[in-house]
Amino acid sequence: MKTEVLKITGEKEHDRKVIAKAAEIIRNGGIVAIPTETVYGLAGSALLPGSAEKIYKAKGRPSDNPLIVHISEPREAEDIAYTSDMFYRLAERFMPGPLTVVLPKKDCIPGSVTGGLDSVAVRCPENPIARALIKASGHPLAAPSANKSGMPSPTTASHVYHDMNGIIEMIIDGGECSIGVESTVVKPTEDGVMILRPGRISERMLRKVAGRVEVAASVKDPSNAEKEKVESPGMKYRHYSPEAEVILIDAPARKYISYVRKHMENGSGALVTTEHLKDLTGVPEGFTVFDAGKTRSAFERSKRIFSILRRADELGLKTVYAQLPPSDGAFLALYNRIVRAAGGRILKI
Ligand code: AMP
Ligand code: MG
Repeated sequence: MKTEVLKITGEKEHDRKVIAKAAEIIRNGGIVAIPTETVYGLAGSALLPGSAEKIYKAKGRPSDNPLIVHISEPREAEDIAYTSDMFYRLAERFMPGPLTVVLPKKDCIPGSVTGGLDSVAVRCPENPIARALIKASGHPLAAPSANKSGMPSPTTASHVYHDMNGIIEMIIDGGECSIGVESTVVKPTEDGVMILRPGRISERMLRKVAGRVEVAASVKDPSNAEKEKVESPGMKYRHYSPEAEVILIDAPARKYISYVRKHMENGSGALVTTEHLKDLTGVPEGFTVFDAGKTRSAFERSKRIFSILRRADELGLKTVYAQLPPSDGAFLALYNRIVRAAGGRILKI
């Protein structure tokens, strides 16, 4: 199959044609990679069971790991799920945006989309290209991240092309994703919500709207994932990992830098926050230093993480060192992704 990459240019008539072409593929049961504000998604109709099967096959994803269904307005949740006051409270504050809410599903959503669960994860993305495509196709879109299962999520069209060339018909290139990590996934509880996957919408932001906010134990510690697999099926798999081995080091900045100094082997690399780049001088050839973003900017560091891990693979690195980020507040999403990228292993020095 030839994979076409079509760019969104800002030229109205051109962009309308790109969206119309993608909408037709979707209506015919095909799948298309699309930009969203979080990461690129691999989108197919959430109403046609065959589309979900194509998505799982293209990703190599286990079919018991359910897909998020994307709608263009919060009200459209009524068509696919049983909503609640809590849903609308969350929607009013955070939609469109990077929040996914798990709700009891209606019959029109096939079990192939939800991994056999009787719930469906609903998100209303903010990205105008994604919303225009949902509207143009007239279907809610099932869309997981557009990477091969287990690999870091794609934040540019060229990341998607790397994983999906020859596998899908079309990629819409809408530039770099503005957030760069996947949505926060929550499930309403009796008196609030439980975070199943952390993202840009933090625990504190949710607390203002949802009351009590719990965090699933597997978010911080992947070894809990097996116990929680019914609640949060996506957490049990190896995830976000490049081919390179990620060695995650739990140490204060100065100690981390001196560890990296002693390990600047050919074919390796290290993530270093912007302020500490100056502390790594005399870097030998064959060793790559990645600017991880400003130390205190959880958003900048989250936005960069997947593209750095992918760059490490492009360079053919065997090993990448990274400092364990804080796990609190806005850093929780970064912490969750990087711990998984390292296969759950943390080296305390
Ligand atoms: P991705 O498609 O890569 O963005 O991952 C989707 C995430 O949403 C995974 O962690 C899934 O386990 C989670 N998810 C999707 N649907 C449900 C659901 N019905 N119940 C609980 N978690 C879900
Ligand atoms: Mg994913």
